[in-house]
Amino acid sequence: MVRQLAKSTVERFRVRLEDERKHLQTLIEEYERELEEARLTESSSDRSPDPGNAEAGSMKFEYEKELSIEQNTINLLGKVDHALERVAAGQYGLCESCGNSIPLERLDVLPYTTLCVTCAQKS
Ligand SMILES: [Zn+2]
Repeated sequence: MVRQLAKSTVERFRVRLEDERKHLQTLIEEYERELEEARLTESSSDRSPDPGNAEAGSMKFEYEKELSIEQNTINLLGKVDHALERVAAGQYGLCESCGNSIPLERLDVLPYTTLCVTCAQKS
């Protein structure tokens, strides 16, 4: 069933997406800063790494975890941006793959989704 969302509903989601976008951009800036500090700390420390140094190992782990969190955040930001493009195109709330309406309950939980449940499971 294809049913366009009411303009007021789309507007509500657009506001949520814009907020989410700002939030994610702030997070990414923070990650960038932290990673930059980690890089500086690493380059100024002793150049001969000791593989038995547990502390260095755990710091490296922290660093990698931070990178993957940042990557996830960037991915999410991409989805939010894309959903906002769908809003601009008047296609928000319609599945990008099959064209059916995405249930409102799903958009409430995942405002940035552009696929219905069935198509999201296929991809
Ligand atoms: Zn679909």
